[in-house]
Amino acid sequence: MLFKDSLEEIEKEIHNCKKCPLYKNRTRAVPGEGGFKKRIMIIGEAPGKNEDIQGRPFVGKAGELLDRLLGEIGLSRDDVYITNVVKCRPPENREPTDNEIMACKPYLIRQINVLKPKIIVCLGRISSKTISQMFNVRFTSMSNDHGRLFESPIRPIKIFFTYHPAAALYNRIKLRDLEEDFKILNEIIEELEEGVNLSKKKENDHKKRE
Ligand code: URA
Ligand code: SF4
Repeated sequence: MLFKDSLEEIEKEIHNCKKCPLYKNRTRAVPGEGGFKKRIMIIGEAPGKNEDIQGRPFVGKAGELLDRLLGEIGLSRDDVYITNVVKCRPPENREPTDNEIMACKPYLIRQINVLKPKIIVCLGRISSKTISQMFNVRFTSMSNDHGRLFESPIRPIKIFFTYHPAAALYNRIKLRDLEEDFKILNEIIEELEEGVNLSKKKENDHKKRE
Protein backbone atom coordinates (compact mmCIF):
# COMPACT_ATOMS: atom_id res chain seq x y z
CA MET A 1 0.00 0.00 0.00
CA LEU A 2 1.47 3.33 -1.04
CA PHE A 3 -0.69 5.36 1.31
CA LYS A 4 0.39 4.97 4.94
CA ASP A 5 -2.60 5.56 7.19
CA SER A 6 -2.27 7.29 10.57
CA LEU A 7 -4.49 8.32 13.47
CA GLU A 8 -3.88 11.98 12.59
CA GLU A 9 -5.03 11.44 9.01
CA ILE A 10 -8.17 9.60 10.19
CA GLU A 11 -8.91 12.39 12.70
CA LYS A 12 -8.59 15.04 10.05
CA GLU A 13 -11.01 13.21 7.77
CA ILE A 14 -13.51 12.72 10.60
CA HIS A 15 -13.50 16.45 11.41
CA ASN A 16 -14.36 17.21 7.78
CA CYS A 17 -16.73 14.28 7.27
CA LYS A 18 -20.22 14.66 5.80
CA LYS A 19 -20.84 11.01 4.97
CA CYS A 20 -23.99 10.74 7.07
CA PRO A 21 -26.60 13.24 8.30
CA LEU A 22 -25.12 13.37 11.80
CA TYR A 23 -22.61 16.00 10.66
CA LYS A 24 -25.41 18.56 10.46
CA ASN A 25 -26.03 18.80 14.20
CA ARG A 26 -22.55 18.22 15.56
CA THR A 27 -20.65 20.89 17.46
CA ARG A 28 -17.46 18.84 17.22
CA ALA A 29 -16.80 15.36 15.91
CA VAL A 30 -15.18 12.99 18.44
CA PRO A 31 -12.52 10.83 16.74
CA GLY A 32 -11.17 9.20 19.93
CA GLU A 33 -8.06 9.48 22.09
CA GLY A 34 -5.79 7.80 24.63
CA GLY A 35 -2.18 6.80 25.29
CA PHE A 36 -2.78 3.14 24.32
CA LYS A 37 0.19 1.90 26.38
CA LYS A 38 -1.50 -1.45 27.12
CA ARG A 39 -2.82 -1.88 23.57
CA ILE A 40 -6.41 -1.99 24.80
CA MET A 41 -9.11 -0.28 22.75
CA ILE A 42 -12.41 0.69 24.35
CA ILE A 43 -15.34 1.29 22.02
CA GLY A 44 -18.57 3.02 23.05
CA GLU A 45 -21.63 3.91 21.03
CA ALA A 46 -21.67 7.59 20.08
CA PRO A 47 -20.73 10.95 21.57
CA GLY A 48 -23.22 12.51 23.99
CA LYS A 49 -23.79 16.14 24.86
CA ASN A 50 -20.54 16.82 26.72
CA GLU A 51 -18.46 14.86 24.21
CA ASP A 52 -20.00 16.87 21.37
CA ILE A 53 -19.06 20.13 23.10
CA GLN A 54 -15.51 19.09 24.01
CA GLY A 55 -14.67 16.88 21.02
CA ARG A 56 -13.43 14.19 23.44
CA PRO A 57 -14.85 10.73 24.20
CA PHE A 58 -16.47 9.84 27.54
CA VAL A 59 -16.14 13.15 29.36
CA GLY A 60 -19.66 13.28 30.89
CA LYS A 61 -21.24 11.21 33.68
CA ALA A 62 -20.73 7.89 31.82
CA GLY A 63 -17.10 8.93 31.32
CA GLU A 64 -16.66 9.57 35.05
CA LEU A 65 -17.89 6.05 35.74
CA LEU A 66 -15.63 4.62 33.05
CA ASP A 67 -12.64 6.45 34.59
CA ARG A 68 -13.53 5.01 38.01
CA LEU A 69 -13.86 1.47 36.61
CA LEU A 70 -10.52 1.79 34.83
CA GLY A 71 -8.88 3.28 37.93
CA GLU A 72 -10.08 0.39 40.08
CA ILE A 73 -8.16 -2.05 37.91
CA GLY A 74 -5.08 0.16 37.78
CA LEU A 75 -5.63 1.60 34.31
CA SER A 76 -5.76 5.18 33.12
CA ARG A 77 -6.47 6.89 29.82
CA ASP A 78 -2.79 6.63 29.13
CA ASP A 79 -3.15 2.85 28.88
CA VAL A 80 -6.14 2.64 26.54
CA TYR A 81 -7.51 4.20 23.37
CA ILE A 82 -11.17 5.20 23.66
CA THR A 83 -13.48 5.82 20.73
CA ASN A 84 -17.06 5.23 19.57
CA VAL A 85 -18.83 3.39 16.76
CA VAL A 86 -20.06 6.71 15.33
CA LYS A 87 -18.02 9.85 15.73
CA CYS A 88 -20.79 12.50 15.75
CA ARG A 89 -23.58 12.92 18.30
CA PRO A 90 -27.03 11.63 17.31
CA PRO A 91 -29.78 14.17 18.14
CA GLU A 92 -31.31 13.71 21.62
CA ASN A 93 -28.77 10.90 22.20
CA ARG A 94 -30.86 8.44 20.21
CA GLU A 95 -29.19 5.24 19.02
CA PRO A 96 -27.26 5.60 15.77
CA THR A 97 -29.11 4.06 12.82
CA ASP A 98 -27.75 1.16 10.76
CA ASN A 99 -27.02 3.57 7.91
CA GLU A 100 -25.09 5.94 10.17
CA ILE A 101 -23.11 3.03 11.60
CA MET A 102 -22.35 1.76 8.10
CA ALA A 103 -21.23 5.21 6.95
CA CYS A 104 -18.92 5.71 9.93
CA LYS A 105 -17.53 2.17 10.25
CA PRO A 106 -14.61 2.65 7.84
CA TYR A 107 -13.04 5.12 10.32
CA LEU A 108 -13.28 2.58 13.13
CA ILE A 109 -11.81 -0.15 10.93
CA ARG A 110 -8.92 2.13 9.99
CA GLN A 111 -8.32 3.08 13.64
CA ILE A 112 -8.20 -0.62 14.55
CA ASN A 113 -5.84 -1.35 11.64
CA VAL A 114 -3.48 1.46 12.64
CA LEU A 115 -3.52 0.72 16.37
CA LYS A 116 -3.60 -3.10 16.25
CA PRO A 117 -5.13 -3.58 19.72
CA LYS A 118 -4.63 -6.82 21.64
CA ILE A 119 -8.03 -6.48 23.26
CA ILE A 120 -11.14 -4.59 22.19
CA VAL A 121 -13.57 -3.83 25.00
CA CYS A 122 -17.08 -3.21 23.66
CA LEU A 123 -19.30 -1.03 25.84
CA GLY A 124 -22.98 -1.73 25.24
CA ARG A 125 -25.06 -3.52 22.64
CA ILE A 126 -24.43 -1.28 19.62
CA SER A 127 -20.67 -1.52 20.01
CA SER A 128 -20.80 -5.27 20.73
CA LYS A 129 -22.97 -5.95 17.69
CA THR A 130 -20.80 -3.86 15.38
CA ILE A 131 -17.49 -5.29 16.55
CA SER A 132 -18.70 -8.90 16.69
CA GLN A 133 -19.82 -8.68 13.06
CA MET A 134 -16.54 -7.06 12.05
CA PHE A 135 -14.45 -9.84 13.60
CA ASN A 136 -16.68 -12.87 13.04
CA VAL A 137 -17.36 -13.38 16.71
CA ARG A 138 -20.71 -14.64 17.95
CA PHE A 139 -22.64 -12.11 20.07
CA THR A 140 -26.11 -13.16 21.17
CA SER A 141 -27.16 -10.74 23.89
CA MET A 142 -25.53 -8.63 26.56
CA SER A 143 -27.03 -10.70 29.37
CA ASN A 144 -25.51 -13.86 27.81
CA ASP A 145 -22.16 -12.60 26.67
CA HIS A 146 -21.06 -9.82 29.02
CA GLY A 147 -17.89 -10.53 30.97
CA ARG A 148 -16.70 -13.09 28.43
CA LEU A 149 -13.67 -13.05 26.19
CA PHE A 150 -13.88 -14.12 22.56
CA GLU A 151 -11.05 -14.69 20.13
CA SER A 152 -11.56 -13.52 16.57
CA PRO A 153 -11.10 -16.39 14.11
CA ILE A 154 -9.90 -13.95 11.44
CA ARG A 155 -7.52 -11.65 13.34
CA PRO A 156 -5.25 -11.93 16.39
CA ILE A 157 -7.65 -9.81 18.45
CA LYS A 158 -9.55 -10.65 21.61
CA ILE A 159 -13.00 -9.17 22.11
CA PHE A 160 -14.60 -8.49 25.49
CA PHE A 161 -18.25 -7.46 25.87
CA THR A 162 -19.71 -5.49 28.74
CA TYR A 163 -22.52 -3.07 29.56
CA HIS A 164 -22.44 0.57 28.60
CA PRO A 165 -21.54 2.71 31.64
CA ALA A 166 -24.50 5.03 30.84
CA ALA A 167 -26.85 2.05 31.31
CA ALA A 168 -25.30 1.37 34.72
CA LEU A 169 -25.63 4.94 36.02
CA TYR A 170 -29.19 4.43 37.19
CA ASN A 171 -29.32 0.64 37.46
CA ARG A 172 -27.60 -0.96 40.43
CA ILE A 173 -27.70 -4.48 39.00
CA LYS A 174 -26.02 -3.44 35.77
CA LEU A 175 -23.51 -1.41 37.75
CA ARG A 176 -22.62 -4.47 39.81
CA ASP A 177 -22.28 -6.57 36.63
CA LEU A 178 -20.12 -3.88 35.03
CA GLU A 179 -17.85 -3.77 38.09
CA GLU A 180 -17.56 -7.56 38.08
CA ASP A 181 -16.80 -7.54 34.35
CA PHE A 182 -13.96 -5.06 34.85
CA LYS A 183 -12.46 -7.37 37.49
CA ILE A 184 -12.62 -10.22 34.98
CA LEU A 185 -11.05 -7.95 32.37
CA ASN A 186 -8.24 -7.19 34.81
CA GLU A 187 -7.56 -10.92 35.28
CA ILE A 188 -7.50 -11.39 31.52
CA ILE A 189 -5.03 -8.53 31.08
CA GLU A 190 -2.78 -9.91 33.83
CA GLU A 191 -2.89 -13.40 32.33
CA LEU A 192 -1.98 -12.06 28.90
CA GLU A 193 0.92 -10.09 30.38
CA GLU A 194 2.12 -13.14 32.31
CA GLY A 195 1.93 -15.16 29.09
CA VAL A 196 4.10 -12.60 27.31
CA ASN A 197 6.59 -12.48 30.19
CA LEU A 198 6.68 -16.27 30.33
CA SER A 199 7.44 -16.59 26.64
CA LYS A 200 10.14 -13.90 26.97
CA LYS A 201 11.62 -15.79 29.93
CA LYS A 202 11.62 -19.02 27.92
CA GLU A 203 13.37 -17.24 25.07
CA ASN A 204 16.01 -15.88 27.46
CA ASP A 205 16.51 -19.25 29.17
CA HIS A 206 16.94 -20.78 25.75
CA LYS A 207 19.52 -18.16 24.77
CA LYS A 208 21.45 -18.66 28.04
CA ARG A 209 21.66 -22.38 27.34
CA GLU A 210 23.01 -21.83 23.85
N1 URA B 1 -21.40 7.39 25.55
C1 URA B 1 -20.71 6.84 24.55
O1 URA B 1 -21.05 5.78 24.03
N2 URA B 1 -19.62 7.45 24.14
C2 URA B 1 -19.18 8.58 24.66
O2 URA B 1 -18.15 9.07 24.20
C3 URA B 1 -19.91 9.14 25.72
C4 URA B 1 -21.02 8.54 26.15
FE1 SF4 C 1 -19.01 11.17 9.17
FE2 SF4 C 1 -19.23 9.38 11.09
FE3 SF4 C 1 -19.81 11.92 11.60
FE4 SF4 C 1 -21.42 10.46 10.05
S1 SF4 C 1 -20.99 10.13 12.24
S2 SF4 C 1 -20.70 12.54 9.62
S3 SF4 C 1 -19.95 9.14 8.98
S4 SF4 C 1 -17.79 11.09 11.06
